[in-house]
Amino acid sequence: MSDTSRSNGSHEFRLEGSPTRVLDARNVDRGRAVAAARELLEALGADLDRGSLADTPERMVDSYIEQLTPQPFHATTFSNDGDYDELVVARSITFHSLCEHHLLPFVGIAHVAYLPGEQIVGLSKLARVVEYYARALQVQERLTTQIADWLERELHPRGVGVVLEAEHMCMTLRGVQKPGTKTVTSALRGLVRDDPRTRAEFLTLTRG
Ligand SMILES: [Zn+2]
Repeated sequence: MSDTSRSNGSHEFRLEGSPTRVLDARNVDRGRAVAAARELLEALGADLDRGSLADTPERMVDSYIEQLTPQPFHATTFSNDGDYDELVVARSITFHSLCEHHLLPFVGIAHVAYLPGEQIVGLSKLARVVEYYARALQVQERLTTQIADWLERELHPRGVGVVLEAEHMCMTLRGVQKPGTKTVTSALRGLVRDDPRTRAEFLTLTRG
């Protein structure tokens, strides 16, 4: 965030410089992906001449492109004029992402909180951030860290708390096959990590 953009209270969320491995739509070669999907499906024994499968390679590729292309958003920040100094928490934000090891979905909820400093942000943006980083080949640990990093970078808050709970289809449909198993990851920063009262408050809210 530049000084100029901070002084007028708002700025664009910049795609550049984000330390992500997001598959940018500009890098997608759809024709090549469709040909590869066709090749993959045929190698797996699918008969693509069967009417209902004819367009499956295209549908498969478009589904991946949709799941891997984040929607840029405008993260307007406001100065914290009311000096609000309690936790701001967005609870139970639903999300889905794609595990980068198996290309299978993991699905769950995110709890995102920050303890404001001089800047606050619209509540819907907390959900947008989750959505933005979820649209990528991911592991849950990195997704958790990226959300926390974004809040720190954009808001300079006094504390950040992010907890993700998700079910990974690569655990429930294959491999150990344990449906219902939830993987929980967290990133606690600043006073949410270091102040016992704030930490306890955040963790209680995430269990609600
Ligand atoms: Zn996996």
